[in-house]
Amino acid sequence: MTLSAYEIRERISQRNGRLPAPKISFEFFPPKTEKAEAALWRSVDRLESLAPQFVSVTYGADGSTRDRTHAIVEHLKTKTDLETMPHLTCVGAPREEIDQIADDYWNMGVRRIMALRGDPVGGADQRYQPTEGGYAYAVDLVEGLARRHPFELAVAAYPEVHPEAPSSTFDLDNLKRKFDAGASMAITQYFFNTESYLRFRDRCVLAGIEQPIIPGILPVTNFATTERFSLACGTAVPTWMAQAFEGLDQDPETRNLISANIAIEQVLALQSEGVEEFHFYTLNRADLCFAVSHALGVRPSVKENDDQSRIENEAQIVT
Ligand code: FAD
Repeated sequence: MTLSAYEIRERISQRNGRLPAPKISFEFFPPKTEKAEAALWRSVDRLESLAPQFVSVTYGADGSTRDRTHAIVEHLKTKTDLETMPHLTCVGAPREEIDQIADDYWNMGVRRIMALRGDPVGGADQRYQPTEGGYAYAVDLVEGLARRHPFELAVAAYPEVHPEAPSSTFDLDNLKRKFDAGASMAITQYFFNTESYLRFRDRCVLAGIEQPIIPGILPVTNFATTERFSLACGTAVPTWMAQAFEGLDQDPETRNLISANIAIEQVLALQSEGVEEFHFYTLNRADLCFAVSHALGVRPSVKENDDQSRIENEAQIVT
């Protein structure tokens, strides 16, 4: 008998009691235009209601993206209650400059940083060259940041192996080194082959890694772009997925329905394998991530005041 992901989840909860809602977090990127920025804040507003553990903000190699990351982080810190985790990379700046950014974040009240090597300035398909006088690899950045302030540090992990790694063993050793240098959790590159994450998680355990390896989930909004990007970052795009999106290039509404369905199947399958924390690549859109979180059992938190007024309303109806 074949069971759907929902049915598997139901069976587990019948055995173990209702599955607790997992922890979730969201990634945003610094938008380039005013219109895109307005869309970002609308998404932040909607997703904030789901009480994520943290939200992260990506970081680009060129100066203008850096400034925008800083501005978004500052806004999140001052105007929302969200725990904010900026990304920081080794690319294009000497150590002193990166240390200064870290000091500024620390003074702003930021306590988590996602420490990455970063993609080369021309994009992921260019050859990486460490910056002179800079941190060469993520492990060096983790060491540097951990020495500077007691940040909680996250690092990247690759269930399907980083495309530049000479071997999967080298890549796993690299992840272990990042933990040994002071990272306390890893977030994975997105993947569509759920099995690849589960096998990777097994290999991490065998390598003695005890820290959480949080799966990065990408609900696909544009299949053609995702296919191109996946080639550069080493994520396999299964044939079934290409078939699911076939013929929908001009039909975003149907694409969204398919996309939510695929992501929901994926998270429920992972949850039934004991995964308790998920990181969503939002692409600054709330709708798909909100739907997928809902399917996992995550609901908007009711604020105390709302709760109080509901109780009062109900009391009035009864009397
Ligand atoms: P590292 O852990 O340093 O590894 C990079 C590669 O070098 C691996 O192949 C590793 O095996 C190899 N390696 C490590 N040490 C050595 C060594 N001493 N000698 C030779 N090879 C070595 N990019 C951005 O620019 N901005 C972002 O905001 C951003 N956010 C991301 C968020 C997540 C969750 C993920 C998964 C990726 C993100 N990236 C981002 C992409 C990331 O920067 C790239 O994947 C980059 O190519 C590798 O970064 P890393 O931190 O994994 O590097």
